[in-house]
Amino acid sequence: MSAPTRLLVLGRQGSGKGTQSCRLAKALGLTHVSTGDLFRREVARGSALGRTVSTYIDKGALVPDDVVIEVVMNQTADLAGWVLDGFPRTVAQGQALVNALGDNGIDLAVELEVPVHQVVRRLSLRRVCDGCGATSVAPTDDDDIRLCNACGGSVARRPDDTVEAIELRLSNYDRMTGPLLIWLDSLGLLVTVDGTGTADEVFDRLHAVIAERLLIGDEIADAPTTG
Ligand code: AMP
Repeated sequence: MSAPTRLLVLGRQGSGKGTQSCRLAKALGLTHVSTGDLFRREVARGSALGRTVSTYIDKGALVPDDVVIEVVMNQTADLAGWVLDGFPRTVAQGQALVNALGDNGIDLAVELEVPVHQVVRRLSLRRVCDGCGATSVAPTDDDDIRLCNACGGSVARRPDDTVEAIELRLSNYDRMTGPLLIWLDSLGLLVTVDGTGTADEVFDRLHAVIAERLLIGDEIADAPTTG
């Protein structure tokens, strides 16, 4: 049996890593693990973890490394292969992952590169359904009251998509995730993919890079490129 595939997807907030990680996981038969989604579910449930992380998330700060690392280790412990979306975000998190999995535990880390001005625009127009979690794009920045196309639920701006939180999240990306990217690159694990354009265009680029690096082209090539 071949070893399970383990991929990391990194990128600035608003780079499309959630959408692309989900599509990649489906295409490759892997589990999509998003730390942001997981934390938001815990906040919605009102659990102890949710209460711990909500103060960080709402202002756009990073949840402390020890908390995130424990959550991810528990979530991935029994999974064969996965696409990690939003983890690691710091060198300490990356080192914890490599320590847990061993030197060959991560197959590839892909960074989706989208210029800052484009992600700021995407984040300010992003609206998320309270019910099903589907993401939609508001026609203008002021348009907050819309119904979800998928389920008819109410759609709102994410609490951390305010101007102040966006600024903090983007500066944290440079300050905390920048060194992680350099470290992953030094391990020969990092590839950078242009994240601009349509979701289909970005997925096709990801497909090409991953197929080339991991020699698993057929599995991805058979997957639908829409949705
Ligand atoms: P995301 O949906 O990936 O943008 O994550 C939303 C928020 O969850 C982030 O702004 C952080 O507050 C928190 N978070 C998610 N993943 C991590 C992580 N790996 N390290 C620290 N905080 C995280």
